[in-house]
Order: sequence, then C-alpha cells, then structure tokens
Amino acid sequence: MGKSNQTIRITLLGGVNEVGGNIVFLEDIGYDVKIFLDFGVNIEKFKGNYREGRHPSSIKELMNLSIIPNEDHLSIENLYTKQIGTQPKNLVDEDFPSNLDAIFISHPHKDHFLGISFVNRTIPIYTGVVSKKIIMAFYESTKDSIENNFTGLNWHTFRTGDILNIKGLNVVPFHVDHSIPAAYGFIIYSSAGPIVYTGDFRMHGPLSNMTEEFLQEIKTNNLCLSKINLTQEEKNLISNEVKVLICEGTKVHKGMVESEDSVKSNLEKLFQKNPFDFILVKYDRIDWDRFRTYSHIAKKYGWKYIITEKDAYFYYLLNKDAIYETMKDPNIIDDEHIYILKKGPARFPWQEKIRQAIYKQQQGERFIEYNQIRDLERNYFIFITHLYDDLMKNLNHNLKGLFISSSVDPYVEEFYDNTNTISKELEKFGIPVYRIHASGHATPHDLINFIHEVNPRYLIPIHTEHAKFFQKFFHTSEIKVIIAEHNEPIKFQ
Ligand SMILES: [Zn+2]
Repeated sequence: MGKSNQTIRITLLGGVNEVGGNIVFLEDIGYDVKIFLDFGVNIEKFKGNYREGRHPSSIKELMNLSIIPNEDHLSIENLYTKQIGTQPKNLVDEDFPSNLDAIFISHPHKDHFLGISFVNRTIPIYTGVVSKKIIMAFYESTKDSIENNFTGLNWHTFRTGDILNIKGLNVVPFHVDHSIPAAYGFIIYSSAGPIVYTGDFRMHGPLSNMTEEFLQEIKTNNLCLSKINLTQEEKNLISNEVKVLICEGTKVHKGMVESEDSVKSNLEKLFQKNPFDFILVKYDRIDWDRFRTYSHIAKKYGWKYIITEKDAYFYYLLNKDAIYETMKDPNIIDDEHIYILKKGPARFPWQEKIRQAIYKQQQGERFIEYNQIRDLERNYFIFITHLYDDLMKNLNHNLKGLFISSSVDPYVEEFYDNTNTISKELEKFGIPVYRIHASGHATPHDLINFIHEVNPRYLIPIHTEHAKFFQKFFHTSEIKVIIAEHNEPIKFQ
C-alpha cells in the first residue's frame, strides 16, 4: 500500500456526553476518504424543540439549533440536500456531488439514522438489508415531514460477510445483538491501523452469539485476510493491533443482571397470581424480541393481543419477505390472537393496504373499533406507546387493569411519552404499574470484558454520559482513554 500519509482524524459531531445522536466523522488522509459512522439525531433535543405535531421548517433551522452539524464548520461540501421543500416524496434529482464518500448506519434507531433524512441524495448510504427495510417501514407508516423523508436516497445494503471498499479503504460491517434486529458494528481498516466502531450492542439478548462473533472477527480479521488479494504490507496493516475502539458506553456505570428470557419468566410469574383483567404494555415498537415475548405469553394464556392499525401495518411490512426467520414471528396475518384497533373508514393508503391484507385472509373479525374496547371481555393486552383519548375513554373501567413498562431503550422516539407520565395518569384509574425490562445495552462488565478482549491502543467512549468512568476504570491499563470533545478532531498516526 505504501501510504505516504498514514494520518487519520476522528471527530465526534454527536454522541458526546449524551446517549444517542451518534455521528463519527472519520477522515483518512492516506486514502483521501471521508466517511460518517452513523448520522443520528439527539431525540431528546429534537422532541424538546418540536413537540406534538410540530416539525422543523428547514435544515438551516436544525443547524441553528445544533440538532444537526453545521456544514460551514466542516470540511464537507454539500452535506445536505437542496431538495427539502413542499413535497418530500416527489423529489427531483438535483443535488450537487459531495466530498463525503459514504455514510454508514449501524442500526435503525433514530438516534443513529435520523440525519439521513436531510442529506444530499448523491451521498452513498450503507446499511444492513434489514436496517433499510425497518427504516422504510417506519417511513411508509408515518406522515411525511422534513424529518421523515427517506425517498431518493443513494442506498447500498450489506450483510455480515461483506467487505465494503471506499476508494481503497476496507470497511467490514458485522452483526451484533441489540434491542432491535439488524444492528451492526464496523471494523475500518484505516491507513493508521484498524478502527472499531461498536454501534449499540449487548451480550445478554437472544442473539448474544452475534456480538461474540463480532469480537472474534475483530481479533482475527478473518474476513479481510481470507477474502481479498492483499500484498504483504497490507496484510501487516490489517493484522495490526486495533488502533482505536469507539465504544458505546450507555450502561458502563450501572448494571442489572438481566436477559430477554428473564422478561418472559417474570411476566409468567406475574400472570400466575394475577387478579387482572387486562394489561397495557409499553415497549419500543421496533423491539422485535420484546414484541415476540409478549405475543407468546398472550397466545399461551389465551389472551388477545391488541395493537393499533399503524403498528399492524409496520409489522406487516417487516413480516413480508422477512429475511430473518425470527421476524416472521409474531405474524400479523397468521397469528389469530393479534387484534387490530381501527377507526372509521381508511384515510391513508397504508390503512387500505393493511385492511385489504387482513380481509383477504377472512380475518376481518380481528379488527376492533375503539368504541368496542369497552365491550371486550377480560383477558387482553393492549400495546401502547403513549396514552391517548380514544383509548382512555373507551376502556372499561369496571375491569381491573395493569400497566407494564417494558421499554428497552428509553432514548428512542417514544422517550417523550414518558413512562412516569403514563404511570401518574394511570394511578387516577387505579391501574398499578410494573416494570419488566432487559436493557438493549451491555452491562458494565460485559463492556469492560469486551474492551479488554479487543485491547485497543486508544479507546473513545461514545453514546454515554459517563465517559470519564472509562478513564477512571482503565487508568491502570495500557489502553489510553480519550474523552472526545464535541466537534474537536482527534488525530492518529
Ligand atoms: Zn440503539
């Protein structure tokens, strides 16, 4: 390779001292490549500025609020699209080329991908096959707005096993376990040595073996070493120690012994002595594992599982041609214990689609109008993301209810429909609250063990309010912890 310049610069444009909003700007001077790892938005900040029904009016406004990076302060030209305006779903292709070579999206949580809604349509967006599917399902089942505009993007999808080549820079995406399907970490074989970016991950979910495999790949560099024709010099570079580990640290300071299995068994314990007629349950809509856990329990005990029409359409899109076997279960069409809340005649095309799909299977009796909720016999779950009038005024308050707060990841979109608010509201109705939970993020010791195994030269914590904890913890080790400053480039050679 003989790169005359083996300098790279890493700048955190987001995810500094905050959970989410990750944007890692990586400039490889040797390869003359500029990339983003994730393009997230801090959802808390976003929702703080745009409450119920309000939307940004322009990209400039978002830059002024520091919700997205100000391109004037970066060495990037034409980062954002010029096409945002009146009809986001009917864009014309008129963005000028950018010098940002690629954006890699680790997983489809908004605090990692929402920024691509605003980007220049010529910039290649790399993400997992299923990640793209989830982003598009979200897009199609939500109203158009500046921040829900994923049309015309220059998508490139990958799977584990692929090696992506960006002007000579090799990037290996690799699956990890998280609270959402299709989460990846990345190994970037930069001219200054291997860089690892974890995205979000955990070791205690049903797919923890995937995180284990990612770790093995980091240690062996198998994919790159076996798949591409390399010169000896390149092989040496690839086999170098990990130069920089950019590691998520959401839960580095505080852990619980937990697992998705324990969510199921705790729920069963609750069920066995329940004096309750119905259960309201809240979790992150795209947390497929959690959806499956609750749906299984409902089926096992002969309870109905009620979701909204919008949820049904979202899950239906993900069920269709599911790439992962696990994403066929639950199944919106086939699972007869799943009931769908609908209201009046269809007003949007997606409502037509989900209604047709269900009626086609002669399953029309699985639709429930909101005002029929009050007539339901006991034994049903209702999945909620927030409390809304149609639900609360139609609940049969002679029945005994229970609320289970089961949000895995409080830092995504539903964060603002805060569980505490729901709990307080439900107290007035005599509905008690339980918490049954397993985090989407690694526990302190899973993180620490992972870092020790990777054994990088430098460690940059991201996606955490506890970066200094890493510094304290590793101060006796060889690993140098760097506390990144927002927008301040860090140079490595
Ligand atoms: Zn996440």
